[in-house]
Formats: sequence, C-alpha cells, structure tokens
Amino acid sequence: MERRRSRRLYEHATRLIPGGVNSPVRAFRAVGGNPLFIERGRGSKIYDVDGNAYIDYVLSWGPLILGHAHPQVVSALKKAAEKGTSYGAPTALEVELARLVLKAYPSMDKVRFVNSGTEATMSAIRVARGFTGRDRIIKFEGCYHGHADGLLVKAGSGAATFGVPDSPGVPKSYARNTITLPFNDIEALKRTVTSEWKSLACVIVEPVVGNIGCVLPRPRFLETLRRLTAEYGIVLIFDEVMTGFRVAFGGAQAVYGIKPDMTCLGKIIGGGLPVGAYGGRKEIMSVVSPEGPVYQAGTLSGNPLAMTAGITTLRILSKSGIYEKLEQRAARLEKGLVDAARGAQVKTRFYRAGTMFCCYFTDTEVYDYRTAKTADTERFARFFNAMLDRGVYLAPSQFEAGFLSLAHSEKDIEKTIASAYDSLRAIQ
Ligand SMILES: *Cc1c(COP(=O)(O)O)cnc(C)c1O
Repeated sequence: MERRRSRRLYEHATRLIPGGVNSPVRAFRAVGGNPLFIERGRGSKIYDVDGNAYIDYVLSWGPLILGHAHPQVVSALKKAAEKGTSYGAPTALEVELARLVLKAYPSMDKVRFVNSGTEATMSAIRVARGFTGRDRIIKFEGCYHGHADGLLVKAGSGAATFGVPDSPGVPKSYARNTITLPFNDIEALKRTVTSEWKSLACVIVEPVVGNIGCVLPRPRFLETLRRLTAEYGIVLIFDEVMTGFRVAFGGAQAVYGIKPDMTCLGKIIGGGLPVGAYGGRKEIMSVVSPEGPVYQAGTLSGNPLAMTAGITTLRILSKSGIYEKLEQRAARLEKGLVDAARGAQVKTRFYRAGTMFCCYFTDTEVYDYRTAKTADTERFARFFNAMLDRGVYLAPSQFEAGFLSLAHSEKDIEKTIASAYDSLRAIQ
C-alpha cells in the first residue's frame, strides 16, 4: 500500500502544527508510522490522499453513527448553509434539537448547547459548584472528560496513551480540588463520600468508560454512586459525550436505569459538526446565566449548521428498528473477532456496549484503569498496522474504543473479521 502523499503532508504539517496534528492521538505515536491524511469519507469507508480505501472503525472518534457523508445530513447541511452559517441570535433549530434531546433523556429538564464535549463537562462542573456552593469534585481514573484543567487528572484517552495523566500547565491548586478514585471500586467510593461530602460539589463519571477502551460498570457500582450522591446532596454528572445515543438512544442512563442530576452530551448530537451540551434537573439548570448567576456563554453555541446535522441525525436514529439493527451487526462483529482471536491463539479480552467496543491484548479481566493497562501495547501496535495494511482503520491506540455505524454492511464486517484473523496470525 502506497502512502507517500500522507507521509509528505505529515512532514510538512509537523513544521507548522505541534506534532503535525490538531489532537494528539491522531499522530500514530502509539503505533508507529505516520498518520493517514484523509481526503474523503463515504458510508463505512474513508479514503486517504494516496487513494487507499479503509473500513473505518474510528468514525471521527464516535460522532458518525450514520457513517460518513450520510446523504440526508449532507443535503440538510447544504440547505442550511445557504441561509447563513451563524447569527449569534436564537433560532428554531436550537429549540428543536433541545426538544429531541430532552425527550430522549428524561433525567434532563433543560439543556444548554456548547461547542465541544470539553466545554460541556467544564460548564457542568461550574454549574454543580455554583449550585452546591462546594468546590471539590470526584472523578475516576481513566475517565476522560475533555481537557479542562481540573479534569486532566488521571484522565484516559491521549493521556492514557502517552502515560502522562497529569499535564504540565495545570496548576496544582486546580488539581487539588479533584479527587480521583478507581472505577468500579464501591468501597473507595463509600469511604471518600462519607468522609469528604461537605466539600464535594459533584461526582463526574463516564457510565461506560470509553477512553481507556471500553470498561463496563460492574453490577451495583452505578446504583451505589446514585444512592450515595443523593444521600449527601452531591450532584451526580453522567458524562455521556461518547455513550449518549451510542450505547442506546437514551444512553447508558437508559441501559442501566439510573437518573443522574446532570448529563453531558456531544459527539453524536452534532452529527459530525462541533457540538456539546449539558443539562439536568430544573433547580440545577436555573442557576445558569441569564436565568441565574453562573456564567457560561459561546459566540457559536447553538450554531445553525451543527444544530441541523444533529437534528437530522437524531431523527434518523429515532426510527424504529435502528438500534436493533446496530446491535445485530455489533454482535456479529464481536463473535467474529472473539472467534478469530481464539482461532489464532492470541489471548484477548473483548468488551462491548452497543456499538462501542474494545479488544484488549491481555489475559486479565479489565474493569478499571489499572487492569486496562495490563494490555500488551506493542502487540496492539503490530495488530493495528497489520489491519491497516489490509484496509481496516482502527483507532491508533489500544486505549480507545472502536465504533460501528449504520453504514457498516455485513460484507464490511465479514471482511474485517477475516482481516483480523490474518493479522492475528501474522503478528504471532
Ligand atoms: C470525547 C469526549 C469528551 C470531550 O469532547 P470534545 O468534543 O473532544 O471536547 C468528553 N467526555 C467524553 C466521555 C468523551 O468521550
């Protein structure tokens, strides 16, 4: 496979952009080689500047649940663009997307749109602090909530990939207000909440951790979290930026039957355009400016193009049978990959929540950050490159989730499974 143009572009990019990329994990540092520069995407596939095609399991890191360049999304965007791209004044589109989101997430009475998941979590925490009058927060090791200062503590995603859980540039005084606990550790949670509750504004959690692969909550973990936070007046924030409309239409909160006080969304609700959202119970959201005193704003927030892509995407997803179809395909992929690993005699652990999944190169059960880190990242890197050579594009890190879209056909999935078997054999 020829990748000369990608290599040339990357060399040029590194002279102009830090590391040649605008988000760290894109740089392929964890798997070697240089990143592919993408020219276009269509359905389940992306095409690089050298003309190679790949079945894509990154899907822009989650948003593209309909696949690339879905015809209805593209046509709605064209029409919207002709009416102007931003006004800085309210539109009916914002009201419609808010209505669709609130209907799907009954735990939220009100929602505010922002421009990224980072903005959503950052703002939700400010609101939780304003609402409770307390400063400290609890997060869990390996959970990534965007790159705001207080949240870049023992975070997943790029931070896990590069092994720098704490970033230089984050003042110690910020990090001091963040308590981190192991995910799925009920005893540590109980101990901390019962002793520290007076200073705790909120607990923020990825209900399924997608930023160290795919880590599922153990039975009773989320229930205990809900019970304890309610008992001590601590705001429970579900960061569903990745899991929202992904693990189910109603997110992880629908799957596990938990009602958080606040929810953060992003990725899918923007249909591939930059969007985030945070919302929650009426009493909490009423502190948000201009209704209340907690300030939060955005020049391009509620942008008509992003709202249009989001509305179109959610309308398609809300049709009956869509998630059943997604589940069927994902289950087939899971079975095929697990069988391929067994056939090739490679020890792996496969985890999946709806259409997000991770195949860890480890023999150990993965249930938190520490156990995820038992994965053999060198073996993953060889697997990644073997798959790439066979036309399958995975996230370039062991600690990222893979995603499936409605555009992935049965043929795509069978080809992926066959490629996985060949790749696993090749790297043995
Ligand atoms: C992607 C992600 C974010 C950050 O969203 P950005 O749009 O990249 O800022 C926050 N939380 C979770 C769970 C995510 O997966």
